[in-house]
Amino acid sequence: MTMSRRRFLTASAGLTLLPAFATRASAALPREVDVVVVGAGAAGIAAARRIVAAGRKVLVVEAAARPGGRCVTDTDSFAAPFDRGARFLYNPDTNPVARQARSVGIDIVPAPPGQRIRIGRRNARARETEDYLATLVRASRAIDEAGRGKVDVACAAALPKDLGEWGPTIDFVLGPYASGTDLKDLSALDESRAPDRNVLAGARQGLGTLLARLAAPLPLLTSTPVSRIVWNGRDTGVETAAGRVAAKAVILTVSTNVLGSGAIKFSPELPKRQLDAAGKLGLGSTDRIALQFKGNPLGLSRDELLIEQSSGPRTAALYANIAGSSLCTVDVAGGFGRELSAQGDAAMQAFALEWLGKLFGSEITKAVERQAVTRWNANPYVLGAMSAAAPGAQPMRKVLGEPLGNLLIAGEATSEDFWGTVQGAWDSGERAADIALKRLGPVKEPEAEKPARKQPKQRRERKRQPERPPATASGTPSWWR
Ligand SMILES: Cc1cc2nc3c(=O)[nH]c(=O)nc-3n(C[C@H](O)[C@H](O)[C@H](O)COP(=O)(O)OP(=O)(O)OC[C@H]3O[C@@H](n4cnc5c(N)ncnc54)[C@H](O)[C@@H]3O)c2cc1C
Repeated sequence: MTMSRRRFLTASAGLTLLPAFATRASAALPREVDVVVVGAGAAGIAAARRIVAAGRKVLVVEAAARPGGRCVTDTDSFAAPFDRGARFLYNPDTNPVARQARSVGIDIVPAPPGQRIRIGRRNARARETEDYLATLVRASRAIDEAGRGKVDVACAAALPKDLGEWGPTIDFVLGPYASGTDLKDLSALDESRAPDRNVLAGARQGLGTLLARLAAPLPLLTSTPVSRIVWNGRDTGVETAAGRVAAKAVILTVSTNVLGSGAIKFSPELPKRQLDAAGKLGLGSTDRIALQFKGNPLGLSRDELLIEQSSGPRTAALYANIAGSSLCTVDVAGGFGRELSAQGDAAMQAFALEWLGKLFGSEITKAVERQAVTRWNANPYVLGAMSAAAPGAQPMRKVLGEPLGNLLIAGEATSEDFWGTVQGAWDSGERAADIALKRLGPVKEPEAEKPARKQPKQRRERKRQPERPPATASGTPSWWR
């Protein structure tokens, strides 16, 4: 029997017509723009699209070799697209990323209903699954209730004491699997603020592919880490090894762990308030071991999600036969996942095979054709998975996103409800862009683009003269405008 999606998945994990000037996928460094966006993940892409749509000059500066940030699809290695980071979009009917997918040729596909629970070498029986679901609902309610209390506590402290044999499974599903963080380190208030994430969908071509397509029309510089951000009003802009770009506003979207790492310098220094907020919203750990099998040795259906009745934190979640292929992934997360990924690729692959062997028989190891792992904690431009508020730190999300003059911090960690998701990142990017645009004021239409008004005959004739390409005062090419 498979269990209903409801609580399991709660726990689990209008720019089609862009102005013509913004049709380059990458660009040389301009001297000046209206807004520099640092980072081309979901937040950065959303912010930049908003700014372009408003007719302002934007430049996205990205440290990695490709846009997408924590959304990246490997389309080369396996029989199906392999989402190395985010894979599901929650509540697709209202999710701003899902709603734009069709405009860039991406199909949004509902995740199949139901997940399987394994108890050792057999599937859970109906009665066991019902028992598990009832216990899970009880645990979730207890965390929600604790979140309404006067003092914020760790989710672990809010759990009922009588979860019995399902205790470790629930610890995994509500903690590491949902947020990359163990329940003892998670704020009950933050958890209770998150809206239901019950309905899930994927992107047939991969969520990373979707983000890359949404980024494609933007003026974007890849492989260009920003080393310093100046936000003192007079000389606002960013510095990179390729040079400096001046701007009227900077939108910063790097992860909280990157922000806290000191990799980007600030002039003046970031206020302690923001740095402390980033520290208390550090990233959890989630990594994926991809295994392509010969045939279907696990005997599972297309896109089947599976967890086990575990006896401790050394557990994982399986996503089997992705898109009907023989590609399966094993997710490891939380404190255990962090320790495992620190041991390297071989240790991660060995664990995945040992875990699957325990559930399906050790012969399955002979059927492995190809494998790969992710190491998000070691990725210098991300340094983890998704932000988690420590007990007491829920208000820090708002603090982190407070505008600092002409520097605006966005990214999933600043979302007060959809933190840790692509949607939360996207919303935060749009919000930062709206603040920046408001401060910039209305765009002055270039003379050449003003709609023709009724004018005396003499003046209309002058307009028929050959058009000159529009140029800025600084001589910047017109497509930056
Ligand atoms: C394994 C995993 C599974 C996940 N699963 C889901 C899921 O199923 N559903 C979901 O909604 N969310 C999921 N998430 C979370 C989701 O991916 C993130 O919340 C979201 O993508 C974050 O977007 P962002 O723009 O805030 O940050 P990022 O994606 O981290 O973007 C920040 C960008 O800044 C760049 N950068 C860093 N330093 C610099 C610098 N010095 N100069 C310039 N650029 C820099 C980075 O390279 C990056 O591209 C998952 C995450 C992981 C890791």
